[in-house]
Amino acid sequence: MQGLMMDWQLTLPNLLERARMLHGRREIVSRTPAGMHRYTYKEYVERVDRLRGALTSLGVRPGDRVATFAWNSYRHFEVYFAVPCMGAVIHTLNVRLFPEQVVFIANHAEDSVVLVDATLLPVFQKIRSQLTTVKQVIVFPDDGKPVDPAVGLDYEALLAKAEPIRTAPPIDENAAAAMCYTSGTTGNPKGVVYSHRAIVLHTLAAVGADMMGLRGFDSMLAIVPLFHANAWGLPYAAVMVGAKMIWPGHFLQPADVSSLIESEKVTFVGGVPTIISALYQHLGENPGRYDISSLQKIMVGGAACPRSLMEGFRRDFGVWITHAWGMTETSPLGTFGNERPQLLELSPEQELNTRLKQGLPAPFVEIRIVDAEGRELPHDGVAFGELQVRGPWVVKAYHNDARNAEALMDGWFRTGDVATIDPEGYLQLVDRTKDVVKSGGEWISSVDLENAIMMHPGVLEAAVIGVAHPIWQERPLACVVTRPGVTLTAGDIIASIKSRFATWWLPNDVTFIDAVPKTSVGKFDKKVLREQFKDHRWPE
Ligand code: ADP
Repeated sequence: MQGLMMDWQLTLPNLLERARMLHGRREIVSRTPAGMHRYTYKEYVERVDRLRGALTSLGVRPGDRVATFAWNSYRHFEVYFAVPCMGAVIHTLNVRLFPEQVVFIANHAEDSVVLVDATLLPVFQKIRSQLTTVKQVIVFPDDGKPVDPAVGLDYEALLAKAEPIRTAPPIDENAAAAMCYTSGTTGNPKGVVYSHRAIVLHTLAAVGADMMGLRGFDSMLAIVPLFHANAWGLPYAAVMVGAKMIWPGHFLQPADVSSLIESEKVTFVGGVPTIISALYQHLGENPGRYDISSLQKIMVGGAACPRSLMEGFRRDFGVWITHAWGMTETSPLGTFGNERPQLLELSPEQELNTRLKQGLPAPFVEIRIVDAEGRELPHDGVAFGELQVRGPWVVKAYHNDARNAEALMDGWFRTGDVATIDPEGYLQLVDRTKDVVKSGGEWISSVDLENAIMMHPGVLEAAVIGVAHPIWQERPLACVVTRPGVTLTAGDIIASIKSRFATWWLPNDVTFIDAVPKTSVGKFDKKVLREQFKDHRWPE
């Protein structure tokens, strides 16, 4: 028997129309170089309509890629809805990537229009001539300053003269709405193409009470950039529920963030651990300076949340940080640190340990861990293997990419992360598959060793890599950066971690380096170290 429901397409214009109907009086606030900018959802939606008109008159058609090169602002957010709601595809370029990566990405995606922040023009102009498919550049002006016509069109002038378009063309829910490239720690960045359906379902799941729990009452500050995996879906979630939105622009210093939380009575913040750590430190150094009592939820992801940060925020400000795991390839919500009734049965220490894990799978997302032969591993919180994931907002192939054959295994996306899953279902990341040290058929977590080494007071940074070994295939080599003025020996390092690990986990050698190389987005670039030390001679 067939169900007798309407064939309703899950597309972004549904969200936009909901905002027009229901959220008109809610506010959208942005920090811009010219000061704070405020308007209502009503004005937002009207400008989205104008932008649709403007882009149509410039020749943008369904399926075309329209790129942004911008910080989080109301204008960037206007493009976020205008482009998919005309059947075109918004492609958010990561302004922090190396210029050659941006060129590669824009050309690979065949972007036809780019909208750029005036403040980013000095960077953008250096690559402009290499963007082979871009026909139009539109500039978000630095308020009050005219846009040089030789550089691009003035966004505000375009909007002022545009004929608004209020309706969307028919859009298939499986059509592309947005694109984002991974930051590419290995090889060229890979393009992920999000469908309308994936984004809508992701949004429905994200706002759930056991997930972000975002509501119309919330005042949401998205520090996570709009170019970073759809800002974790926060913009769509906020539009669905009519939350007040706060866009910080490029003002991401802890003092800026703290004052925004106070002045806009922020209830919900999303940002990577580095930014939240800086915020926490700043608040601690300036007791009583800011009233952040409105704050209820902080969501972190993209990297592991440090224990001291989660513990400290709870202790000092009464706010639990929620730890989420995801990837550009998973839209990005994979797992979320939701609370479960079972948490209440735990001691404070056990509860913290559980909250520090990466959380439980989002509804409709399935996760599993497999060993090197692809065999599924038990959910005992101990066995670790490659994390694989599937679900309605998980990538099934990269855009025009020769590497697609390796991306999936039996319909599961191979994340490249190494993890455990405990009997309650909590995911805990252990390492990356390419970083884990493969010693005699067993895996050693480079991350665990690094974290332990970095607890030594004389150590500034440490990266552990697997280096070829005649008997064991690979053995761990610790690359350590000492604090200025500190001298340490390999023996000091090993002695400091000895009691924490089985003997066969301990690095066979320690080498001292000046700095750990970093990728364009600030993660340890171990491929550089592996190349540098590939011929390392092990001590006898
Ligand atoms: P990002 O730009 O956030 O790094 P990517 O898609 O480039 O997004 O990288 C995703 C990777 O980031 C994951 O595969 C994982 O290795 C890491 N990651 C994401 N969330 C977490 C987390 N909560 N804890 C530890 N690592 C994480």
